[in-house]
Amino acid sequence: MEPSTRPAGGNPYRLLPAVDEVLRDPGVVALVENVGRGVLRTLAQRLVESWREEIKEGVLDAAQLETRLVDGGLGRAMGELLNEDRARGLHRAINVSGVVLNTGLGRAPVHPEVAARMEAAARSFCVLEVDRISGERNRRDERLSQLLGRLVGSEEGIAVNNNAGAALLTMHALATGKEAIVSRGELVEIGGSFRVPEVMAAAGVRMVEVGATNRTRIADYEGGMTAETALLMKVHPSNFRVVGFTSEVKPEELAALGRQHRVASAWDLGSGLVEAKTMRPLGARVGGETEVSDALASGIDIVSFSGDKLLGGPQAGLIVGTAEAVARLRQDPLYRALRCDKVTLAGLEATVELILAGRGDELPARLMLLASSEDLHPIAEQLKEALMDLGFKVKIEEGESQPGSGSAPGIFLKGPVLRVTDPKRSPAGLAAALRASSPPVFARVQGDALLLDPRTLLRGATSSGASGMPDDQEDLLKVFASLVSSAGA
Ligand SMILES: *Cc1c(COP(=O)(O)O)cnc(C)c1O
Repeated sequence: MEPSTRPAGGNPYRLLPAVDEVLRDPGVVALVENVGRGVLRTLAQRLVESWREEIKEGVLDAAQLETRLVDGGLGRAMGELLNEDRARGLHRAINVSGVVLNTGLGRAPVHPEVAARMEAAARSFCVLEVDRISGERNRRDERLSQLLGRLVGSEEGIAVNNNAGAALLTMHALATGKEAIVSRGELVEIGGSFRVPEVMAAAGVRMVEVGATNRTRIADYEGGMTAETALLMKVHPSNFRVVGFTSEVKPEELAALGRQHRVASAWDLGSGLVEAKTMRPLGARVGGETEVSDALASGIDIVSFSGDKLLGGPQAGLIVGTAEAVARLRQDPLYRALRCDKVTLAGLEATVELILAGRGDELPARLMLLASSEDLHPIAEQLKEALMDLGFKVKIEEGESQPGSGSAPGIFLKGPVLRVTDPKRSPAGLAAALRASSPPVFARVQGDALLLDPRTLLRGATSSGASGMPDDQEDLLKVFASLVSSAGA
């Protein structure tokens, strides 16, 4: 029986369809092939339950329910629920937050050619752990190791899931069951519950803290050494900076001390600045981060950094160093648990190859980090004009973007930002409506306005030579236009 043909009789509960009735509705049946019967049943239960709640709370009477049910209403209601459900997944987002390497938004977007290589690897079988000449089994990151060697001068390199994994693997492989020495100035929390002392504990390493929060000398490390010492560790303080009366141990000294006592040394570098000679310099912009090649040249055995911070590739933890030390990491059972899949490895190879080919400045994250205020002003002007045409109040002011992800603590990049006010919504309301849009847009609320930072927009068709990227600027304006029409309705 069609729900709408039943007499309302003033009792809304009697109009409430059963879950099976919802699933038999022609409009709902049409949805099955998209999601499957099981999911649809769950959503139908949710729908009926939410209507029952509304009736109970007295906000839905029989007449209102009847209007919801007529003319394919069940199909529409289920369609909306389905869209809400799907919107929770992993979707493309537009970043105007001004935080370039935004962990919440997936950090570095990869170059279109890198994405194509990742897609190709995902779609097919690939030569991952087999030598195509001999047919023998070999190592999945052999090629990456070679490419990293060319890029940063390492003897060997490996890749794992992320840099937190790289630190864990390093500590476990080099010092589990033994002691590792670390400076009190570097016992940091990186965020997302990555705390150096806790990672050490998880790796089964006894941590020996030396020095003071603001100053640590090589003599402190030396004084902390015992027969049990297996690792001298240096950690980049990431999103934290000690200023004033400070001193930290020079990596050369740490490396020499390790060598003298036959103890391994490792440096968790984090952000992974790479300055190939063919790229515009990024180091000065991000506040003099240590370059991976300089870190290695200091003689430290192991240097680790993220693939998706300043390097601008897919998420990974990259570990480079001496052949002997990297071999110890490779033999550790944790390496098997943390190693990268073929898709990530394909992306890493492609990213490093682009840099080696002299095209590193095309990497989207680098483009954004290197953009000057003058580069960004024309984009800001275009956006301002289009948004004003849509009825928003817009002012351009000088603002600051951030590299993000602790890749360059305390560094702000100057550039124009748009201060937007919506005649119909509060700044928080506008921000929420933008997040709920398709694609979702992530902006910053400051005081009585919403700030849009053009630095973090991907420049698609409009940018020179970097086609294949989504055109964020165009899609951002479409989202604003849709907000105007929905608010006007
Ligand atoms: C970012 C960072 C990490 C964590 O790296 P992920 O790639 O996010 O796992 C660890 N150590 C340092 C010093 C970092 O900057």
